[in-house]
Amino acid sequence: MTETAPSTVPVVDLLCVGAGFSGLYAAYKAVEKGWTFAGFEAAPDVGGTWFWNTYPGARCDVESIYYSYSFSQELLQEWTWSERFAPQAEILSYIQHVADRFDLRRHFTFGTRVTSATWLPEERLWEVTLDSGETRRGRHLLAASGGLSTPKDFDVPGLENFTGTTVSTSRWNISLSDLAGKRVAVIGTGSSAVQCIPLIAEVAEHLTVFQRTPNYVFPARNTPLSAEYVDEIKRNYAAIREECRHSLGGIPDRIPDAAAFDVSDEERRERYERAYQRSGFNGVGGEFSDLLTDARANETAAEFVREKIRQIVHDPKTAAVLEPRFHPLGAKRSCFGTDYYETFNRPDVSVVSLRDEPIETMTSDSIVTRAGTHEVDAIVLAIGFDAFTGPLYALNVSTPETGRLQDAWSDGVRTYLGIMTAGFPNFFMIGGPQSPALASNVVVTIEQAVDWIADLIGHAKAGGAEVIEPTAEAQDDWVKITEDTVAQTLYATTDSWYRGSNVTGKPTTFLGYVGGVGKYRRMCTELAKRGYPGIELD
Ligand code: FAD
Repeated sequence: MTETAPSTVPVVDLLCVGAGFSGLYAAYKAVEKGWTFAGFEAAPDVGGTWFWNTYPGARCDVESIYYSYSFSQELLQEWTWSERFAPQAEILSYIQHVADRFDLRRHFTFGTRVTSATWLPEERLWEVTLDSGETRRGRHLLAASGGLSTPKDFDVPGLENFTGTTVSTSRWNISLSDLAGKRVAVIGTGSSAVQCIPLIAEVAEHLTVFQRTPNYVFPARNTPLSAEYVDEIKRNYAAIREECRHSLGGIPDRIPDAAAFDVSDEERRERYERAYQRSGFNGVGGEFSDLLTDARANETAAEFVREKIRQIVHDPKTAAVLEPRFHPLGAKRSCFGTDYYETFNRPDVSVVSLRDEPIETMTSDSIVTRAGTHEVDAIVLAIGFDAFTGPLYALNVSTPETGRLQDAWSDGVRTYLGIMTAGFPNFFMIGGPQSPALASNVVVTIEQAVDWIADLIGHAKAGGAEVIEPTAEAQDDWVKITEDTVAQTLYATTDSWYRGSNVTGKPTTFLGYVGGVGKYRRMCTELAKRGYPGIELD
């Protein structure tokens, strides 16, 4: 028997995967606590989502004055957003500014993918393997690997036959002008598609949109931010951000004062109209208290949107294809666009309903559906992500006792607070499944998670413990809370990436906690105050 020499690889306090909003704040926190930190990022630089998603029209749809960090008052004061919903390039500049300002890049190795992570029980630490084949060791492993960072595979046969341009919104590597004068197909009508379709239509010779499920698309009503408005916000920034932390979705609440049928038909219409003008996540879908819990109430809002579509889109057949009829409003992520429905009035834009005519195959220059052949020069895939579990499973996290994470979760995701999972000691997820990330301004969820994890690790260290792991019972309780919470809503009735149903073979688990970031924060704070019941320290 050969003896293995003891590893000479230095052990850091925190190993971290990802340098988006989550990983950067984790690095900041580690510095603040005086802990050693080694981060790894597949991309050549910081940014995460905002590094990768460079498709035309990419921008946030949570207002930038909320969709950014709140941990530093100086940062809040010195950064000025130019638009209500900043474009991708501006959000990326912001994240780069944060990295520079707090000197965070030096904690990461870029262009490096973590290919596996193994818990070593004897040494009580994690060992990660990098795509270079090298290994690194650390006491704790943070998955800051993102919820929407693994593009979904295109599961329709024949793409390999196509010899024209193929590009995906989440790995955009051409310029918009490359599509000029071309016959372009966009496959998908989720948030990314809604943002890029109007811009592609402007340059393409012809654009054909292949739509499986029509969604509710609201006018984003993006606008430049005036100096007066920015001043006003900056004067109140601390209070505004505090309000976000205690809200439902991580943006200031707009608590509905009535249920949909508490008011007359006329008043309901007027209120929907005002909400439609206001737009945003507190728009039509947030106007009445029961829109996400009562299907009849929801239908009044859904029909309001369909009427809008019929008013905007001139051709009744096209309007009918675009009208969302297969799920309640808000039960899948609503989309926000600029001139989205108006784009379908262009003579050079058409829509194909994949429900009526699914794609059968592709040839070198066409997409063949059950009803006919569509000749195209370029295909844009806007087909979404293998949300939450995709990036986690690609990490190949395992322990000798429990095995791999994907096997432990083969019947569905099971977490404690969306942050930890039983059987995987010292493993933490930031913005993970069953956390509020799915239904919130994600940055609010990220900051809360990093703060809470850091406090927990600090608590364990202070007590001399090296190993932190939730009990199976505490985890069962949390899974039940997430399930019971979502069961009261219309989310539970709808197939979507929220439930894993966009990926073939993925077990259906609702991937978020929808009780609100404020309530979640209170629960987490209370647990910390009580000395973290449900978590074993050793
Ligand atoms: P990410 O930003 O996804 O970063 C994760 C990083 O980890 C990536 O850079 C990835 O390369 C890296 N990584 C993953 N696995 C590995 C590995 N094995 N090895 C090395 N590196 C790895 N949320 C909102 O709240 N509001 C919005 O308006 C909004 N708009 C969005 C628009 C788009 C187009 C998309 C795709 C998402 C949007 N989101 C929005 C969600 C968004 O993902 C989060 O808000 C946030 O950016 C997540 O930050 P993160 O750091 O947790 O993850």
